[in-house]
Parts: sequence; structure tokens; C-alpha cells
Amino acid sequence: MSTDARSVQAFARAKRVTPGGVNSPVRAFAAVGGTPRFIAAAKGPYLYDIDGNEFVDLVCSWGPMLLGHAHPEVLAAVATAAEQGTSFGAPTLAEVELASAIIDRTPVEQVRLVNSGTEATMSVLRLARGITGRDKIIKFAGCYHGHVDALLASAGSGVATLAIPGTPGVTRATTEDTIVLGYNDREAVRKAFATFGPQIAAVITEAAAGNMGVIPPGVADGLNFNAFLAAIAHEHGALLISDEVMTGFRVSRSGQYGLDGVQPDLMTFGKVMGGGFPAAAFGGPAELMEHLAPVGGVYQAGTLSGNPVATTAGLTTLRLADDEVYAHVDRVSAQLRTAASAALSAEGVPHVVQRSGNLFSVFFVPDGVTAVPDYATAATQSTARYAAFFHAMLDQGVYLPSSAFEGWFLSSAHDDTAMTRIVEALPLAAQAAAAVEVPAGQETRS
Ligand SMILES: *Cc1c(COP(=O)(O)O)cnc(C)c1O
Repeated sequence: MSTDARSVQAFARAKRVTPGGVNSPVRAFAAVGGTPRFIAAAKGPYLYDIDGNEFVDLVCSWGPMLLGHAHPEVLAAVATAAEQGTSFGAPTLAEVELASAIIDRTPVEQVRLVNSGTEATMSVLRLARGITGRDKIIKFAGCYHGHVDALLASAGSGVATLAIPGTPGVTRATTEDTIVLGYNDREAVRKAFATFGPQIAAVITEAAAGNMGVIPPGVADGLNFNAFLAAIAHEHGALLISDEVMTGFRVSRSGQYGLDGVQPDLMTFGKVMGGGFPAAAFGGPAELMEHLAPVGGVYQAGTLSGNPVATTAGLTTLRLADDEVYAHVDRVSAQLRTAASAALSAEGVPHVVQRSGNLFSVFFVPDGVTAVPDYATAATQSTARYAAFFHAMLDQGVYLPSSAFEGWFLSSAHDDTAMTRIVEALPLAAQAAAAVEVPAGQETRS
């Protein structure tokens, strides 16, 4: 049992100076209860909190740390870059190299670098609207694209975790142009295009949904959901935007595109490509991207965009992320999926494990549910069971995402020692989950 006395104290202090004590809501442990651990340091697959506890990290900063924490080569490159100055507000060669590294791995021809995934999706929507001269966008319930006004409707993990019904502060005019449909629901997409076709600028989708638990694009009639979206969007003169902020450079060298090969019109990237620093990007064919200023009329800018330190961290991370890295993460992901499922089954805890490549999550859904195709199904999870599971893992030194609606993230630094610690913690956590009574009616026996 780890002690959290210093974290409890720090959290009380934090709550006085920051709303809820955190700078991003899911960090507050609201969905699982208890006190968030204040982190002092991280190395490889481990987090160290200010009480001196060591945890095997299954969050990896919610995705970015594909190589594990404080990778020596990334640190060395960052230190060298920082010594040469940290921001110039002028172009650098590192930006050209990072753009080229992204272009080399994806179908985009040009990218614009920004500072966060939110900025990338916000900017790409403006671009799509600017190109098409249309206002409406389609998004899917449970997909999260950052806290962009127009995209906050039914926005997955953070919003789902906190059960925030709407989003105060977003104007009616903004949400009027957002059409929210069920993920993997082709009939709903057909109807929306039939009704609003000429007004729809773009469909934005997570390349594989990762913010309501992991839900890969479904296949029907031999056609992947992403391919279906590309076809129907193009039929109606709209663009397909694939948000690969989470999946990009993580689920494969080329992200979800590397797995399903569906070519969108525009793409967004973040997380891994920043190597633990604030860097993100959006991209597409030159013909579309050159609608951006200074070539075209769609304005987009940023004081710190292409920041040399962040760019160096991202570039070094992408260079180090070779086939061996992905093979390793794939392998430990398979190992953990199998072990988690076996531990839960042994205790009779109903669950579904879903993945896209190495990114996976465990849904604590009612008995009889065998697949989670959309947010409505994901929402049938027992968050109480997940909370018990989460705390039992935390007590044994394993740091899981503090929400049942998140993926579990691994890295190339998760070695046998770290994996053994996780696997050995699973049986007790499964017992804790099994001990939680699920209210009658929530568990429908098949
Ligand atoms: C994390 C995430 C974002 C937002 O990125 P931030 O850097 O947190 O603003 C956007 N889209 C997806 C799919 C994400 O997972």
C-alpha cells in the first residue's frame, strides 16, 4: 500500500490556486475517487510521486511517451537544442526536418506545425470550411478532438468521465453547425448527407476512436468505416479529416493510416510527434494546405509554433521509433491484453478488450455485451468496477488511466521487469472489481 500524504497536501494547495487542482480535468481522479498523485519524476516505464512511490506507468502522458520517459537520446537532443536558444519566431531547419519526417510516414504532402492537438483540429476545421465555403461539420459521439468549441459536443473521455451534459460557454450558433452522429453508424451518416449534403464542409473522425475506450473503425461489406466516410464525403463535395493525434506514430509507424490504408483529405497529429513537448500538426495535399496564409486566405499563426526545443524532441522521437520499437510495443500490448482478460475472467468480471494496433482498452461492460462499436455501448460500463480495479492496481504500484474511457498506453521502455509487475498485480485488482456490486438492471445476463 503506497502512502499519499504529500500528494494529499499538494492537492489541497493546488485546489486553492487552480480550479479543481489540475490543468486538465481527467488528471483530478474525479471518476475513480481519491487523490491524484503528484509526480516528481519519471524514467523509462516508471513514474515517481512526491511521496516516493514508484509506479509502472500505463498512461505515458496519455500517449506521447512512446519511447518511455526521459529517453537519454531525446534528452540529449533537447539539451543541445535548448542551449542554442529556445524560441526565435523565425524559421528553422528542424521544422523542415520534422515536417519531412511526418510526410515520410503519412499520405500528407505538407504540414503546418502547431502547439497542441486542440490547435491542430481547430485550425484544420477552419481550413476545411475555408476551402469548401461550407459551415457544417459531422463529428461522432465519444470522439474527442481537443477542446475546440465546435467539437465539444459528445466529446468522449474528459466530458464523459465528468458526466458534463452540455458545455457551457459554447454558443448555440457554434453547435448548430456541428452534427453529432453515432460512431460506426453508417445509416446516420447517409441520412445526414441526404439532409444537409451541400452544407457539410467536413467529416472529422478519430482514425480509430481512443477517447471513449478504444473502438476501431468497423468493417461492413468489406469496407472499413473510414473508407466509407471518405467515399460519402467525396460524393457530396465534403472533406474527410482524420484525427490521428492519439493514433499517429503510435499504433504503427504510420499510425492508423498504416493499419487501414484509408487516405483522408486532411489529417491532424500530436502526442507522439511532440516527444513529450507541446507540438502538433495538421496536414494534407499541397493543393488543400496552400489555402493557408501566407499562400492562401485562411489565416492561422502561432508565436511558439515550430518551437525549436519541441520540434527537436519530436523529431528525435520519430527517428528513434523504428520497427523494433513498434514490434516491442505490439508484443507487450498483446501480453497485457491477454493477462488482463484472463485475470478478469478468472474472477467472473464481464469485460470486453478492444484494440487498434497496440492501443487497447478494457471495457467493464455488462455480461452479454461482446463488442463495443460506439459510445452508447461504451457508456454501459460499470465505472464503479473500473474505479475499484484502478485503485487496486495503484496500491500495487501500477498507474492506470484515471478513467474507464481511456486507452492503456505502453512504451518501448516497458521491459520484462515492468510487465511482470503489472501482470502480477492483475489478480488482486480483478478481485476488487468482482467485489463491486453492479446495480440490478445494469447487468443483463444473456
Ligand atoms: C489528445 C487528443 C486531442 C487534443 O490534443 P491536445 O494536445 O490535448 O490539445 C485531439 N484529438 C485526439 C484524437 C486526441 O486524442
